[in-house]
Amino acid sequence: MAFLTLRNIEQYFGDHHAIKGIDLEIEQGEFIVFVGPSGCGKSTLLRLIAGLEPVDGGSIELDGRDITALPSSRRDLAMVFQSYALYPHMTVFENMSFALKLAGVDPAIIRTKVEKAAAILDLGPYLDRTPKALSGGQRQRVAIGRAIVRAPKVFLFDEPLSNLDAALRVQTRLELARLQRELGATTIYVTHDQVEAMTLADRVVVLHDGRIEQVGSPLELYDHPANRFVAQFIGTPKMNVVPGASLGSALAGVGFIGIRPEKVRLDSGAPNGHAATVDMVESLGAETLVYCRLANDTPLVVRCTERVHLKPGDNTTLTFDAIDLHRFDEEGVTA
Ligand code: ATP
Repeated sequence: MAFLTLRNIEQYFGDHHAIKGIDLEIEQGEFIVFVGPSGCGKSTLLRLIAGLEPVDGGSIELDGRDITALPSSRRDLAMVFQSYALYPHMTVFENMSFALKLAGVDPAIIRTKVEKAAAILDLGPYLDRTPKALSGGQRQRVAIGRAIVRAPKVFLFDEPLSNLDAALRVQTRLELARLQRELGATTIYVTHDQVEAMTLADRVVVLHDGRIEQVGSPLELYDHPANRFVAQFIGTPKMNVVPGASLGSALAGVGFIGIRPEKVRLDSGAPNGHAATVDMVESLGAETLVYCRLANDTPLVVRCTERVHLKPGDNTTLTFDAIDLHRFDEEGVTA
């Protein structure tokens, strides 16, 4: 039996059906990431698991116990928010120890637990500071530390990195991945950032409009998307998806064809290629993105790791291998 099981979870906000029958099984120790566009329901689903709001339908089971009707405080979960939610007048030590103190834990045990968490998070030197004397990254680590000392059954993270600048976000992401490996803690992490999802998750849950589109390992989703939505949500730049007919008569019977930008080649003069015109070139150093347009106006993005010397208006030829094509039917489901 799974460690955490969601069965047919439903949630309404007035007339708005925000969560539409979610079923999901999570194993102990898994790092699960909920990802999806703004408004897809990922934060709502996390809050329902946390018990911050009651579900309108369905059930939640954790470690063999039905927790659907339990208040948040009795669910054995710890949540870390984007906003840190630290107590400003308390020191780092006091912030991290607060829940244990409330629970009446022995002060000597509290000190041991907080110091251990602080060591894991490199917060040892900051235990006597208040949050305002910390950087954004350090504050977020305190919020994580506060969750760690409670030794919850599941860690819930809601966009914990989105207040950090780009460099710190990458660094904290690596730290989180290391931490999760060290603690072996079951984790559910919400983000709208598919790179975070791909780099952190054992399994990614792609949500869209209150439903699960697909659950799988990062590379399963990348290589075998269940549908056009997942295909284009995972990967930057996103997968080219064009009507089958726009790539020639051989593909005319297929609803849509998808091809990753790195699978399209600039192959000037190739005999069986597709003639194209360059719209725009983005040189990023390690890679170059070439935005092209076929003679029938179909746009295709090409991603190359070598430097290219093309400019807008130049003519080129695009080629790709049949094995790299993803086929979708008219409804966008992988064919
Ligand atoms: P974001 O990435 O923008 O935070 P999200 O995927 O986390 O998006 P949710 O916050 O879960 O999305 O919201 C899902 C839907 O439910 C949205 O359409 C939102 O407007 C709506 N919603 C969320 N909370 C409430 C609420 N308290 N009252 C009414 N509608 C709500």
